[in-house]
Amino acid sequence: MIIVLSRDIRPADKQALTAFLESKGFRLREIQGEQETVLAAVGIVPIDVRQVELLPGVARVIPITSPFKLASREVRKEDTTFPVGPIKVGGPRIVVIAGPCAVESREHILEVARIVKDSGAAMLRGGAYKPRTSPYAFQGLGAEGLAFLKAAGEATGLPVVSEIVSPEHADLFRELVDVLQIGARNMQNFELLKRVGALGKPVLLKRGPAATIQDLLMSAEYLLAHGTEAVMLCERGIRTFETYTRYTLDLSAIPVVKKLSHLPILVDPSHGTGLREKVPPMALAAVAAGADGLTVEVHTDPQAALSDGPQSLYPDQFEKLMRDIQALAPVLGKEVARLPEREPLVLADPSGRVPPAGDLSVGFQGERGAFSEKALLAYFPEGAVGVPHAEFRDVFEAVLTGKVAFGIVPVENTLTGSIHQNYDLLLQYPDLRIVGEKIIRILHHLIGLPSSSLEGIRQVYSHPQALSQCALYLERFPAWEKTPFYDTAGAVAFIAREGRPEAAAIASLEAARAYGMKVLKEGIETNSQNYTRFVIIALGEAAGTLGAPGAIAAGRGANKASLVFATANTPGSLFQALRVLAERSINMVKLESRPIAGKPWEELFYLDVALPEAEEPFRQALEELKGVTEGLRILGIYRS
Ligand code: PEP
Ligand code: MN
Repeated sequence: MIIVLSRDIRPADKQALTAFLESKGFRLREIQGEQETVLAAVGIVPIDVRQVELLPGVARVIPITSPFKLASREVRKEDTTFPVGPIKVGGPRIVVIAGPCAVESREHILEVARIVKDSGAAMLRGGAYKPRTSPYAFQGLGAEGLAFLKAAGEATGLPVVSEIVSPEHADLFRELVDVLQIGARNMQNFELLKRVGALGKPVLLKRGPAATIQDLLMSAEYLLAHGTEAVMLCERGIRTFETYTRYTLDLSAIPVVKKLSHLPILVDPSHGTGLREKVPPMALAAVAAGADGLTVEVHTDPQAALSDGPQSLYPDQFEKLMRDIQALAPVLGKEVARLPEREPLVLADPSGRVPPAGDLSVGFQGERGAFSEKALLAYFPEGAVGVPHAEFRDVFEAVLTGKVAFGIVPVENTLTGSIHQNYDLLLQYPDLRIVGEKIIRILHHLIGLPSSSLEGIRQVYSHPQALSQCALYLERFPAWEKTPFYDTAGAVAFIAREGRPEAAAIASLEAARAYGMKVLKEGIETNSQNYTRFVIIALGEAAGTLGAPGAIAAGRGANKASLVFATANTPGSLFQALRVLAERSINMVKLESRPIAGKPWEELFYLDVALPEAEEPFRQALEELKGVTEGLRILGIYRS
């Protein structure tokens, strides 16, 4: 049964409740959800639920109807997520595990590890104990193979995954691997499940070739009941009458599992098809169907592989597959889990504007002297180092992979409106949060070579937005050729590089300084009320996720929150959402709608709200909003 705890349960009541249930023989698991905290009590214990309902601190008691309990969505409404080393599994991420079927030698596993890492794999796989159909086939290198795998993991930073076939090996695996794989043949080896579950480490549980989805979830229940909370399920093909492929990959298991369970589900297209050329299409189909990840066999020389060569991808095939998955991920609102290039930065004081000493690299889009760089220098104290990037997406990617500690991107201009691409990117990179904002005045100057004069100018280069913002001034010089350029500061750099005295650029004072150029005319923008709002983005739990303990506390000192949600396509649904804020006098400072890709005429709403002094009204509002909106996400809680 599920015991929903009152929000204000006293510690003493909670203790009495758990003692009572344990005395009756229940196994208990506390689950903190977004909406409520529940105790899952499992066991075959005859009890009148009213006895529990009447205990202090109990809000209500719900029987669990499915045969699997801890694995069931009934117990946990949100998707389970957990870390495997630096990689987060579950939620809006796609985790790709890659490597050879078997560890073949120290050198080989290291070589494959480097290759799959370079292509973007998040974890390394390799069997050391191989359950083979024939006793005469290669059985794996055993403990030595595990040591080679671990060494390759350490050399590359990739967490490692390997199959355990016997409870006797539990101690060895605990030491040497990050994820214990239970193979298809052992899915119902219950003694193995109990021992592995009790280790408490992450497990990859593969579906048996003749197992139903319910069987798979019952096996997951064994793992959960014995101690681990980190279980990834894996569909790897089932036996059917079809013989062309090695098994029949049951992709419909993905949505079925998603409905029944909160556990992440991966897909193994390598064993599922047994044929190399069928692996990439099925891998992409699995991702499109909602899989939380893949496990893929990759070998440098599949012809010579000691096992499963025919289904192993060549390195360049794997590289292409990863690029395709990268392209597909944003369509699904997901990101591909990546190994950070260094430890994510934890903001010492997310409320303050001063990040911890040390690394202050800040990615921005554009060339040196761009308005983004000006904004970051204004936001961060002395010592921040701006790192230029070609595209906005590159800035997000650099923050995600830890190449820079922060990023800064424009989201809104007072004359030209929102920069939608950055709103979309905020959604596509759910591990990044807004941690601050900076509004700067945009002052445009006409800039030329030190030797240039206004009279000699024939051509003007700048970003189209800057050209349009200076339209009135430019009208005075009808003979000037107006040439759009990708970036304001980039235009200055271009003229400096080309040494063209008859050309000028429209950009900031900083850009003129950065390239040793001369300001020919100051402040040429049509409207002096030209401001751009930038947001500072960072990786990590600094701002927390909705409902996570401390999510709001993490933003203490914060006075603004940015949210995004969709509403049902029914009359008054947006009104219902806004009412939640209005009733608590929470001031909405911005509301913006964006079409949802792939869902014509459905909209996402981006909302900025001023945070009230007290935390509770906002916390309550978030909880209520969850009920009347879809896919509510906090983009950041920060100080403006
Ligand atoms: C494997 O992943 O190497 C393996 C043997 O898979 P399965 O248990 O799915 O056959
Ligand atoms: Mn294999």
